[in-house]
Amino acid sequence: MDFRLSDEEVAFQAAVRRFGDKVLRPNEVKIDTEATIPPEILHAMADLGLLAMMVPEELGGMGASAALTEIAAEEIGRGDSSMATAVFFLLEAGWGHILARHGQEAVKPEVLPPVCQGKAFLGIATTEPTGGSDLGGMRTTARRDGDAFVVRGEKSFISGVEEAKALGGGHLTLAKDGAHGYNFLYVPTRTEGIDTQRFHNMGRMGISTGGLSFHDARVPAKYLLGSEGKGFEYAMEGFTVARTFVAAACIGAAERALETGMAYIKERPVFGRPLGKFEGIQFELVDLWTQVEAVKWQCRRAAWLLDTYTLKGDTSHRSEVDRAVAAVKLTAPPLAFECVKRVMMWFGAAGYTKEVGLELGLRGVMSYLVGAEGGLNIMRIILGRELLGKEFVPYK
Ligand SMILES: Cc1cc2nc3c(=O)[nH]c(=O)nc-3n(C[C@H](O)[C@H](O)[C@H](O)COP(=O)(O)OP(=O)(O)OC[C@H]3O[C@@H](n4cnc5c(N)ncnc54)[C@H](O)[C@@H]3O)c2cc1C
Repeated sequence: MDFRLSDEEVAFQAAVRRFGDKVLRPNEVKIDTEATIPPEILHAMADLGLLAMMVPEELGGMGASAALTEIAAEEIGRGDSSMATAVFFLLEAGWGHILARHGQEAVKPEVLPPVCQGKAFLGIATTEPTGGSDLGGMRTTARRDGDAFVVRGEKSFISGVEEAKALGGGHLTLAKDGAHGYNFLYVPTRTEGIDTQRFHNMGRMGISTGGLSFHDARVPAKYLLGSEGKGFEYAMEGFTVARTFVAAACIGAAERALETGMAYIKERPVFGRPLGKFEGIQFELVDLWTQVEAVKWQCRRAAWLLDTYTLKGDTSHRSEVDRAVAAVKLTAPPLAFECVKRVMMWFGAAGYTKEVGLELGLRGVMSYLVGAEGGLNIMRIILGRELLGKEFVPYK
């Protein structure tokens, strides 16, 4: 067992932290108020290799491990506490990897290099207006018709609908195949027969969330991932990867909040002493820090499991991987929310102002409590299934 980061990981972590400090932090309010990530930030991310970083080098990525991507996710969550940049980052990391792994050879050089350069967006579309947790209940279909799939239905709460329209790109879209399986297709948003709508979220404003309506849109058959009817498996693999980075980004946001809080309680005088001298506050900090440290290492272990098994196509440790990933997606978002909330309280009235900026983190992290990349109870269902056995799945 060796918990040290490699020299390469330490150097990369330092580079991403510098980028977070110098570029993301000074721009996070602008990202939030202007409801977009400025193109120069995306280009700077591309220059650092941060866009779709797990994509192999020959397709424009850096062929990064899940471990290195996890480290970057922590730093980006720490840099832009609104979480908008982290969402952009982790969608492209996770789903770029899935397209590189399961996409057709002819399609990868067409789709992935622009994503790695920040010139196109790549996201995921599974959720529908009738529900996101119960994917078996989805209604959207992608039926084969000659050299195309005809996609009909509606997806909702989809991140990046406007970015994919404006920049180019699209979403890996899960749909029923009309028989008993699912097809998983890359669907370019500019395809004829697709409309988008932007929803009005409370946070992480720098990346759009909205609806995608498919009116018998014809999507070339070359955009199918893997085999027909097997799409559910590829989508679940992608969620396993992406959820690890969600948790890592939340850990970054939690650490940022605690660092902000520590600097404040060392200085703020109350009753003639710094606030941090009072155990009521100091012990709260210590308890939160201890939990953050524990979940951070759980995240890193989840990434290690992905590198060791999942990314090599080895399913022999599937249960261990599922447990590790569901555990961090279950614990990291509420922990980050709690850290930001407590630090806001240490700041007193100032914590409630936009100037101090903690509310940005509260709004951003909340997206991962309500459901993005799978609700907390869905993580509990996965863990219950893996601990007790499939016969204890509550919905069957
Ligand atoms: C900001 C944001 C961005 C998003 N981006 C994307 C995206 O890019 N692509 C995409 O496909 N989706 C996206 N989503 C949607 C997300 O995946 C869904 O919100 C999530 O899957 C939950 O689905 P739902 O919102 O329909 O809630 P529901 O499925 O209706 O569930 C409602 C609540 O009940 C809980 N619940 C569900 N089933 C059970 C059960 N059996 N027992 C106990 N509790 C249960 C859930 O955890 C949730 O808290 C995004 C969501 C948000 C908030």
